[in-house]
Amino acid sequence: MITCKELADFLADYVSNELRPEQLAEFERHMRVCPPCVAYLNTYRQTITLGKQAICCDDEKALHDIPEELVKAILAANSRRA
Ligand SMILES: [Zn+2]
Repeated sequence: MITCKELADFLADYVSNELRPEQLAEFERHMRVCPPCVAYLNTYRQTITLGKQAICCDDEKALHDIPEELVKAILAANSRRA
């Protein structure tokens, strides 16, 4: 079983589908037993999506449409990674 830290190291490769099959199996096994990591993955994906949106349509309205809760979650995730 991989640890939460190892899972975090795999995240970037996981979202871009670059994990090897055995890594993917370990990743998904951890996800089934560790809700905090599932939540972290969701936040990570949302951060990527928002990052892309910020690049594609750089207007202020898009920024105001982001729920405050999500912004807090992203900030919390960022500080956890640091
Ligand atoms: Zn975990």
